[in-house]
Amino acid sequence: MRPNLARMTDNKTALITGANKGIGFETARRLAELGMTVLVGARDRERGQRAVAGLRERSADAHLVLLDITDEASIAAAAGDVSAHFGRLDVLVNNAGIGNASQPPSQQSLPQMRELFATNFLGAVAVTQAFLPLLERAPAARIVNVSSSLGSLGLASDPTSRIADWNALFGYSASKTALNAFTVRLAHELRSKNIKVNSACPGYVATDLNGHQGLRTVEQGAAIIVTLATIRESGPTGGFFDDAGEVAW
Ligand code: NAP
Repeated sequence: MRPNLARMTDNKTALITGANKGIGFETARRLAELGMTVLVGARDRERGQRAVAGLRERSADAHLVLLDITDEASIAAAAGDVSAHFGRLDVLVNNAGIGNASQPPSQQSLPQMRELFATNFLGAVAVTQAFLPLLERAPAARIVNVSSSLGSLGLASDPTSRIADWNALFGYSASKTALNAFTVRLAHELRSKNIKVNSACPGYVATDLNGHQGLRTVEQGAAIIVTLATIRESGPTGGFFDDAGEVAW
């Protein structure tokens, strides 16, 4: 971290978890392009440093924050570092996620489902709780939970929807449904504060998560996340959005 530089620029600071690659990296790149100091959350130092170097090559004010979102000690250390060096946080993007080990509901392995929930749901909750005091110090903080339309019960229960047949991804989908519940409840809890909380669906994006089977680019996937990370005071809180607008819960 280069604290002095961040202090001097006195701009907004954004932490993106799982920003060493994929949609998270692209989100960091876009937020840096908008003038934010970006904190690249990465659980692996080498992968994180490579991402930071890639962002700095593009003139970004980027810093590595070592952060494994399933590890309480790592989360506490990261929050302590960011507090010491930056003093506050304007934007938190809970992007880190895993997608492996999903199966149909009748066969979903419980140990694998625990892993999915540990990262995609509990990890995001734990990171948010740890960074909330820093977000509360910002004049208008934004939290974006990177969810998925697969977590939408409205779409899953509609036999004509595009995701109705995606039953094979039950564990993953349920972890995103839980994440959406966190969005709604946290937004309500923070409604009297200047912090907006929303869920974003990036669409089906070609990344390592799906063996690059996705049909969208990371640029397209990151767009709604960047929008929600930068929404104005008059913008929504406690919502679920993709590029086309509101997604059914
Ligand atoms: P990706 O390329 O596989 O990136 C996932 C990122 O999360 C990586 O940086 C990974 O770090 C990190 N991560 C995983 N577990 C972590 C942990 N315990 N602690 C810290 N970081 C961790 O996948 P992606 O497609 O960009 O996914 C980003 C987000 O978008 C996920 O939440 C995903 O569910 C969501 N999403 C993706 C799609 C899609 O079609 N791709 C659709 C809807 C939603 P390592 O490099 O160290 O593994």
